[in-house]
Amino acid sequence: MSRSPKTLMLSGMIVLAMAAHVSATPRPVLLPRDAKNFVDCSASQKTKINTALADAAKLANIAATEIDRSSTAFKHYLRDEDGDSAVKMWSMVAANNDPTNPPYSLAITDAAPQDGDTLREMKICPRFFSPQQRETKNDLNSKKYDKGKRGSWCQDGQHFRDFETAGHTILHEMTHLDALGKAAGVDSHQDASGLTTHGTDDVGGFGNEYVSAAREFLDAWVDDPGSLDPNAIKPWQNAENLAAAATEWWFIKQCGFTNIDL
Ligand SMILES: [Zn+2]
Repeated sequence: MSRSPKTLMLSGMIVLAMAAHVSATPRPVLLPRDAKNFVDCSASQKTKINTALADAAKLANIAATEIDRSSTAFKHYLRDEDGDSAVKMWSMVAANNDPTNPPYSLAITDAAPQDGDTLREMKICPRFFSPQQRETKNDLNSKKYDKGKRGSWCQDGQHFRDFETAGHTILHEMTHLDALGKAAGVDSHQDASGLTTHGTDDVGGFGNEYVSAAREFLDAWVDDPGSLDPNAIKPWQNAENLAAAATEWWFIKQCGFTNIDL
């Protein structure tokens, strides 16, 4: 899978950026300005990215508000002690894409950087828009939710890869933003390059498949934490653990599944 750490795929086509606003307000929030800057995008590409942003918010919202901590959606990716931080991160993703919540909305096009803050950017390249790109070709509304029906999201016998959406990728990428984690109020950590960040990382050492790596990383924390580096990130600090939990919970809820196989 070609999602690279911190940026999405290749050259910049759309740039999303957010800056944390830490001021006299009691709780840091993301600025309403936070940038969405379309560069050479067609109308259909703008529609695709806006749908993906809305889907990321839907996935994050249902995870933040409803996830059952005894479900596989939680237990495949998170420990009990990860739950509160995960909910904070999902809540901030949801808040920042909620069109009914204008102060938090990303749907504003001024890209001017904040004084004193370095904008973190999310770059989205042409492959994101390819109808051949398995990870991003679908949106949450690309199929019906008819239980058991062929061609439906709820068709039996599918695997996690069949449930990936562009919104899933956007959710994964948004959690990498330091500003998002800072606004969510979660703990910071040092990433591999020594930078202190409140955003998530992409864990290494568990293979190139993001979802199976997320599950194996959780298993290592549960079954053999001594095998991990003393400074290892927690499961909730790995981007795909948050994204996959939200996607798995969405389809468990919508389709009545009890588990999603890899
Ligand atoms: Zn990533």
